[in-house]
Amino acid sequence: MMRKKMSPTAAMFRAVAAFILGLGLPGIATNPLSAAEPKTGPKVANYGGPFEPLTRPAFIPLPPGEIEPQGWLRDWCLTARDGYTGHMDEMHPDFRKAWAADYRMTGDQLAYWDKGAWPYEGGGYWFEGLVRLGYALHDDSLIRQAKTRLDVVVTNMNEKSILFMWWLDRNNPDHVQAAAKAAGGEAQEWPIWANGLMGRALAAYYAASGDKRILRAMEAAYGGDPSLVRKGWSMSNPWAAFEAYTWTGSPKIKAALTELFANNPIQAPNRTIDLYHSWYNRLPDETIPWYLQPDHGVHFNESVAPWALGYLWTGDPAFLQAASRWYDIIERGDDGMQPHGVPVSDENKGATGSFRGTETCNVAGYMMTQIALLRVGGNGRMADRVERAFFNAAPAAVSRDFKAHVYFQSPNRINRDLPGSGPFIYRQTHFPLCCTASLNRLLPGYVGHMWMATDDHGLAALHYGPCQVSALVADRMPVALTCQTDYPFNDFIDIAVNPVRPAVFPLAIRIPGWCATPELSVNGSPGNGAPDANGFVRLERLWKPGDRIHLRFPMTARVKVGHDNDAQDTPYATVSYGPLLFALAIPDPKDANTPDAAVPWNYALDAPGGNAETNLAVERQPMPARWDWPFESPLKLHALARRFDWKLLPRESLPIGRSISKGTASAFPIAKVRTLLPAEPVVGGGAPEPITLIPYGCAKFRISMFPITERARKAFVSEKPWPRDLDR
Ligand SMILES: [Zn+2]
Repeated sequence: MMRKKMSPTAAMFRAVAAFILGLGLPGIATNPLSAAEPKTGPKVANYGGPFEPLTRPAFIPLPPGEIEPQGWLRDWCLTARDGYTGHMDEMHPDFRKAWAADYRMTGDQLAYWDKGAWPYEGGGYWFEGLVRLGYALHDDSLIRQAKTRLDVVVTNMNEKSILFMWWLDRNNPDHVQAAAKAAGGEAQEWPIWANGLMGRALAAYYAASGDKRILRAMEAAYGGDPSLVRKGWSMSNPWAAFEAYTWTGSPKIKAALTELFANNPIQAPNRTIDLYHSWYNRLPDETIPWYLQPDHGVHFNESVAPWALGYLWTGDPAFLQAASRWYDIIERGDDGMQPHGVPVSDENKGATGSFRGTETCNVAGYMMTQIALLRVGGNGRMADRVERAFFNAAPAAVSRDFKAHVYFQSPNRINRDLPGSGPFIYRQTHFPLCCTASLNRLLPGYVGHMWMATDDHGLAALHYGPCQVSALVADRMPVALTCQTDYPFNDFIDIAVNPVRPAVFPLAIRIPGWCATPELSVNGSPGNGAPDANGFVRLERLWKPGDRIHLRFPMTARVKVGHDNDAQDTPYATVSYGPLLFALAIPDPKDANTPDAAVPWNYALDAPGGNAETNLAVERQPMPARWDWPFESPLKLHALARRFDWKLLPRESLPIGRSISKGTASAFPIAKVRTLLPAEPVVGGGAPEPITLIPYGCAKFRISMFPITERARKAFVSEKPWPRDLDR
């Protein structure tokens, strides 16, 4: 186990003490205090279980199936169904083993993912995606497949089972040891971790089907040995255990969660970090960059968000604030957030970099953690993050036919070998198979949380795109909402509101954080589009069948300049339009791993006249008949750039030679993860010429972190608020 010891400073302790005492620190964006007041009114609005805690979440998920994708989003969901999600057994034989009745691991086989236990993780990821997509599409075949696989667990669960491993006996010491074995390296309590993924699949299955047998299985699993809910890698479990409690009121689950949060209050930062052992009831150390607080990316995402649940359970907002602050520090400077919307995770945390990888597991994992924070705390900023990840990183993770995927994606991909062949190649499966399984969560995870219920008997529009919602509002009154839009490929959304009869209820409308001039009207009458502190406009009125909300979120091209931390502060620029990141269009006429070698990519973004944005022109075409993230995108930007002699000279990347030892921040040798942006702004080069940019998600080869010319550097305002002090 690798370890890095550092001593916290007295000043930092004071800052943390001030925060814990409620004095606060600047820059805490979450506003959970109002939600902390216990509600004593009706039990729950129209959703949630009969045993909800007094501290209410901002939003309550609708059961899978109440939001159905439409338009381009439906096309993509159908492609996912016909690609991976409905056909995983054909993708790799290990998916046939996942939680199958005749695949029962014990002993070392169970404890080590590489000795045969990995299908338990793969199955958990896949089944959650399968059941959610099946219900979202109202697809009987997918639902049947999900039922067949999940019912093996549901029907075999018994009072002796260890979590969902029904073939084990919790009274058998050998079984207990195998299930919770800290196997070393990356495989800490591997089976417990994998069980949490199964717990989440079953929670979705129950929410969708209402089948009481599933509840009995969840109660048996989480009412067993409570210590299993809180072991190192096991933080995948608390949310599923919480859901099971809200539905069953199980005193044993209640005791387990109470013990978890009572014994682990929010603590000061701790610089003594054991990789894979970090507990995120600890605050981040805000005095050092995120990427110098090492952890595995998947473990990070799975282990931070569960602590937000501590706020709902205990009423103490410090739990939510701590979880939020871990994500806020990623966005400072270039401490790890990639322009496609998901942090570096190749496999571990890393600094922002044009060739740094983001694991596909973490595209899904990051989105779902932001949804959890949004659900608990109600801050629309989390929804901005979800859209950014879903519209950019998600389509880049998979091929257009949803039958191949990358293990890592990077902001720039020049050819088959740059940034790298193996994990950066689109293939049917990668080893290990985690990403092949986890990618099934991407689409249904987004679709299923586009709208959520509010405690005041209303609904909230959270993530946009074409969809149809059938939900309950007011006093359990059905309402149908139809969101007609091509968003994010255009900027307006028409929402038809059709309650079965006129009724008063609130609709909370999220205003994207990037939109400076939102427009909103109801039945043609302009309304106030100015959002509240959390980014929402609340429309409470007498809604009648046939009412229409028209939203317009004008998009402008935005150039952001940053510093490739991975290449010793090399300058770069990105171009965005609304929630979409744009990239140089490098065609892939043959397949997703073969670029058109004749097309140049060696451009530096230029700014003649001193302003990059004014040189960007927007071109629109009609949406294609069927959406598959086409290279011929309906939305293009035209920019000015200069070709130059871009020599791909590898340089040492951070944090080698800095304040962390090699190998600690990344499981991979960092020297292999190179960035090749030019070290200085480009001087000279060819005459400015127009280049075409397409959405990042439409480009299998791309430059999205551009070198910049010297005059562009002078024109752009640098966004680097974070003072770097790497030698602390
Ligand atoms: Zn993975």
